[in-house]
Amino acid sequence: MVTARESVKLLALAAVSVQIRGHPPELVGILKVPTSVTIKSMAYDWRNRAAKIKKQLGMSYGTALHQLRKAILFRLAVAAKMDLCFRCGSRIESVQQFTVEHKRPWEDKSADLFWDQENVAFSHARCNRPHYLTGARTALPPGKSWCSHCKRFRSVKKFHKNSTRWNGLARQCKDCRKGDRHWRRIRDIRARG
Ligand SMILES: [Zn+2]
Ligand SMILES: [Zn+2]
Repeated sequence: MVTARESVKLLALAAVSVQIRGHPPELVGILKVPTSVTIKSMAYDWRNRAAKIKKQLGMSYGTALHQLRKAILFRLAVAAKMDLCFRCGSRIESVQQFTVEHKRPWEDKSADLFWDQENVAFSHARCNRPHYLTGARTALPPGKSWCSHCKRFRSVKKFHKNSTRWNGLARQCKDCRKGDRHWRRIRDIRARG
């Protein structure tokens, strides 16, 4: 007899296996959702697993998967000699500078432009300015970055690193981040009463 807890584990295992290499034949047949397993306990198990993975990888599974896929794509681009920047024409040196972009903006225009492979190109993060950006970022004073929270230019030292952003820096300065956390904590304490 398979216990509820074991079933959840099997389901999780099966979900992972399906993702990787299709349904494992040895699990077919065992895999019936037992009525004793409530949705709630399954959700609890998945949340636990997500927290465990986050601790192990130092980031969420989604972020890790995104970074892994990008690293694979960059490696393939290098191997295929497609590691040239669509904007400036020079070589993209590292995965941190490697971004995938649309040559022609698709937003508010057409979904076809989004999927069209001919419209997709690789570029440096520093060359890839989203089309909706206005003056501020293109006319950045040297050694400074814009804080979207306190709305001013500050030294790059005042920003945490964020490799997913176009300039490799966080959107908000360290002080604003700290302030944000402070207020969130106060709000949480108040909510708890
Ligand atoms: Zn470039
Ligand atoms: Zn700030």
